[in-house]
Amino acid sequence: MIVVMRPGATAEDVKRVEYRLEELGFKTHPIYGQEKTVIGAIGDKKSLSSEAIITLPGVEKIVPIMRPYKRVGRELKQEKTIVQVGDVAIGGDEIVVMAGPCAVESMEQMLEAAQAVKKAGARILRGGAFKPRTSPYAFQGLEDEGLAYLVEARAVTGLPIVTEAVDPRDVALVARYADMILIGARNMQNFRLLKEVGMTGKPILLKRGLAATIEEWLMAAEYIMDAGNSQIVLCERGIRTYETATRNTVDLSAVPVVQENSHLPVIVDPSHGTGLWKLVTPMARAAVAVGADGLMVEVHPSPATALCDGPQSLNPENFAALMEEVEKIAIGMGKRVRDNRN
Ligand code: PEP
Ligand code: MN
Repeated sequence: MIVVMRPGATAEDVKRVEYRLEELGFKTHPIYGQEKTVIGAIGDKKSLSSEAIITLPGVEKIVPIMRPYKRVGRELKQEKTIVQVGDVAIGGDEIVVMAGPCAVESMEQMLEAAQAVKKAGARILRGGAFKPRTSPYAFQGLEDEGLAYLVEARAVTGLPIVTEAVDPRDVALVARYADMILIGARNMQNFRLLKEVGMTGKPILLKRGLAATIEEWLMAAEYIMDAGNSQIVLCERGIRTYETATRNTVDLSAVPVVQENSHLPVIVDPSHGTGLWKLVTPMARAAVAVGADGLMVEVHPSPATALCDGPQSLNPENFAALMEEVEKIAIGMGKRVRDNRN
């Protein structure tokens, strides 16, 4: 619920309300506006008798938050959240492109990919060290060694790195090296993992589950925020439908739906969304046109020999072409793609 204070309410009035709410087991979140202060109160309303707060000095009214996601929703916070990853701001007027291989395979592969995506204008480098694979016999990632290669690629290119944590036991390790932690589609509702990354304070990239509704996705973000971390970027990566021509179906309408209901930035991953490299650029253009705050694209120096997701990976040349195309759409949308080329 939201406790709306009267225009003339004093700082002491606000503190008193906060104190009382906390006594009743609520977490409070004051927002100081030009005219009035409102206090977001998250907790179990059952513990609240209607007089407990409304009778306190300075209180004008109590407005319930209708949506189940309280912190993630626009009811409590209207202005868009800007998520800062190193020197990159996501959620503003820049389309932020994150790119790199599905999996870190070797030092050479990672450096080659990193330099290529930087040259083409990507702002954040991706690469999986811990890989959630459908088959236990498929390549599972280089783990610690992969993290070390990512760190080296960051040192060489200056690009911040985003990489996945698949297990709560690995979160501390991943957080030590990564600039942003990715929660993959298969773990979107791994609540222990969400709480764990929520406690790191690192920016989080939260992918939509394979069969998750938008509300379930936003509730997953609510877990991270409830654990104390509001630096979250959402990522639409395609959902499972009856269509078999593509790996998944990219739900582009999710972008404006999320933007209407949440203040968090939302990006699109057309690589996992389609599963086919030829569809990645057209869907990237569409994602920017629909208003996405960024893109995540898989790029491999040699897609044909990739250990993971080769068929959906762009080679450096095709990625450079994607960046050119996306930039045109971005300009048409009054946005920009930061030029990293040198
Ligand atoms: C990934 O981005 O590395 C990944 C595994 O994607 P998803 O979780 O969307 O399948
Ligand atoms: Mn992949």
